Amino acid sequence: MTNPATKLLKWYDANARELPWRAAPGVVPDPYRVWLSEIMLQQTQAVVVAPYYLKFLGRWPTVQALAAAELDDVLAAWAGLGYYARGRNLHRTAQAVTEAGGRFPESEVALRALPGIGVYTAAAIASIAFGARASAVDGNVERVVSRLFAVTVPIPKSRPKLRTLAVSLVPLQRTGDFAQGLIELGATVCTARSPDCVACPLSDGCKAFAKGSQDRLPRRVPKQERPTRHGVCFWLERSGQVLLGRRPPRGLLGGMLEIPGTPWEAKSWGQKSAMEFAPTSADWQSVPGEVRHTFTHFHLVLTVMTARTRSGGNLAGTWVALDDLETAGLPSVFAKVSGLARAKV
Ligand code: SF4
Repeated sequence: MTNPATKLLKWYDANARELPWRAAPGVVPDPYRVWLSEIMLQQTQAVVVAPYYLKFLGRWPTVQALAAAELDDVLAAWAGLGYYARGRNLHRTAQAVTEAGGRFPESEVALRALPGIGVYTAAAIASIAFGARASAVDGNVERVVSRLFAVTVPIPKSRPKLRTLAVSLVPLQRTGDFAQGLIELGATVCTARSPDCVACPLSDGCKAFAKGSQDRLPRRVPKQERPTRHGVCFWLERSGQVLLGRRPPRGLLGGMLEIPGTPWEAKSWGQKSAMEFAPTSADWQSVPGEVRHTFTHFHLVLTVMTARTRSGGNLAGTWVALDDLETAGLPSVFAKVSGLARAKV
């Protein structure tokens, strides 16, 4: 393949989508903005991230401002983006960088030592913000490289090879634009379902295109089915307020607000056993319907019980005004529970 980097950069200069965190081609952006966007973009689409990114930047325009924020405020602003450990790590990293003088480290190794920055994110920040010759290999890049080199070994076994091949493509100059260009090509041209090889700047050197195998690559080891878990939530109202709990600091949705309920188990809950987890005895009524939510490793099905109380001052948890619920920072799964419960109460 002749000089794919030059072709890709020329294509990127002409075709880069305007995204709020993206500097114009050839311009080196602010590392804080690069880091913030890369953490948000982990497992989340650009269209979902854009309003969150702008909200964070408006509220905390510098790493120092984010470091000085209350963790609860950061998590509340993060609510809805999912994978809440990222929000906590964001805050921890902002504090670590601020304590170290306010400058992000430039090397991949040093970046990886910060909370929430893995191999991909370190490479992306190093190349985009600091011009390092690093290769940020996400799902888009895996797909493009698998096809360019017609790699038939399935993912994830092929990952080390794909990484080596991706690194071999990185030019000496404009590494950040190249990294973004390759991701952009995978997101807009070399797409999973319908690669547009005719419009692709790399088609003349693409082995999969030459063989007509682009639709069959990359191969993947079939994913295991996600199991389903079940739980019951208890929505307790008291004069315009609802009782919320706080999840344990570690684990899924760690430290976030929650609607009190049973643990999430493989089997559906019987009403009697679920009631042991009710925050108080009351005239609990079950709400028709259920809430479905999918986490990385399992599907969750929640049913909802509602009740009203006049007392409850001594109950564990926090009473939050219903009018403040939207901005309180409830994770998406509990926002769905709230929607179902409020339709009933
Ligand atoms: Fe992907 Fe087709 Fe371009 Fe090859 S030619 S990189 S398969 S879009």
